Amino acid sequence: MNKKNIERIATERIEILIDNALNEINRDEKLSQTYAKLALKIGMRVRVRMPYSIRQLFCRKCKQFIVPGVNSRVRIGRTRVKCIRITCMKCNHVYRKIIAV
Ligand SMILES: [Zn+2]
Repeated sequence: MNKKNIERIATERIEILIDNALNEINRDEKLSQTYAKLALKIGMRVRVRMPYSIRQLFCRKCKQFIVPGVNSRVRIGRTRVKCIRITCMKCNHVYRKIIAV
């Protein structure tokens, strides 16, 4: 198998795992975390760049799978610079993402 193929398959698997993780988060958080961790593992091993929509589901500090409204909080900042604040409810780490105006 060449690198392109491996990357394609890895990305597919990651997407499936993240889908499963999102489906399970309200039912079985432990299982959900397991799926998410597996996805992260594949991503690291194959070194594929995860799309932002997936990357934002992982806390940058504790690397846990965090879903807005479930175990992370998303707030819009009140400063002049438009940004959203994402709070990880696992480790209380807050990070900001600046939204382009
Ligand atoms: Zn965290």
